[in-house]
Amino acid sequence: MKAVPENSYSEKMVKMQIIARGVTDPFVIQAMKTVPRHFFVEHVEISQAYGDFPLPIGYGQTISQPYMVALMTELLNLKKSDCVLEVGTGSGYQTSVLANIVSMVYTVERIAPLTQKARRIHCDMGITNIEYKTGDGSVGWAEKAPFNKIIVTAAAPNIIEDLKWQLADRGILVIPVGDYRSYQKLMVVIRRGAFFDVSENIGCRFVPLIGHKGFWVKPNDY
Ligand code: SAH
Repeated sequence: MKAVPENSYSEKMVKMQIIARGVTDPFVIQAMKTVPRHFFVEHVEISQAYGDFPLPIGYGQTISQPYMVALMTELLNLKKSDCVLEVGTGSGYQTSVLANIVSMVYTVERIAPLTQKARRIHCDMGITNIEYKTGDGSVGWAEKAPFNKIIVTAAAPNIIEDLKWQLADRGILVIPVGDYRSYQKLMVVIRRGAFFDVSENIGCRFVPLIGHKGFWVKPNDY
């Protein structure tokens, strides 16, 4: 696959949308410059792929706005040695940003064709540190726990207990919490032994997390 040319859209996207809004983590900045976002939204013009907005990816789902991807990734405070769980593979863009930084990413998606498409794109990109599962990620991925970091990229009704307990000690969970029909708050949970520090970040808008510990949504609605 074609690499992004120098002085590319991703350089501009990072400068104008990400650094300008206060993201400073060099790992995040480097990863967002490197991962070609247009691979994940082939159906739109290249300039649109790097625009300051979310985009549809089919099946009623969306790829998050670049800034939201950067902010959530920064909040995870990633280390190279981290093992990360992502709930909501979607296009696979956020997954590859994570995989660019850490040693291992586990990602769960409930819609099988989205898992398949993301896997194919990652394979074409030569990424080898991602493991995929099609299923309900609202309960996490217990067989692969503990995780140093967990990121949920769909709106959850609350901070899900199952996910908290799948964190390693000092692990971080980033999860949008609130009504999926309106807005959510980005919540950050840090595990300290049997205790959890919870803080609130910005308001956000995600598609619903549908599943056992997520929302029940009318069939065909999402
Ligand atoms: N991180 C994605 C954003 C995808 S949108 C990206 O970069 O493109 C959220 C995704 O979460 C959707 O693909 C949706 O199908 C998925 N999802 C919703 N509920 C889920 C669940 N219980 N388990 C796994 N994935 C879920």
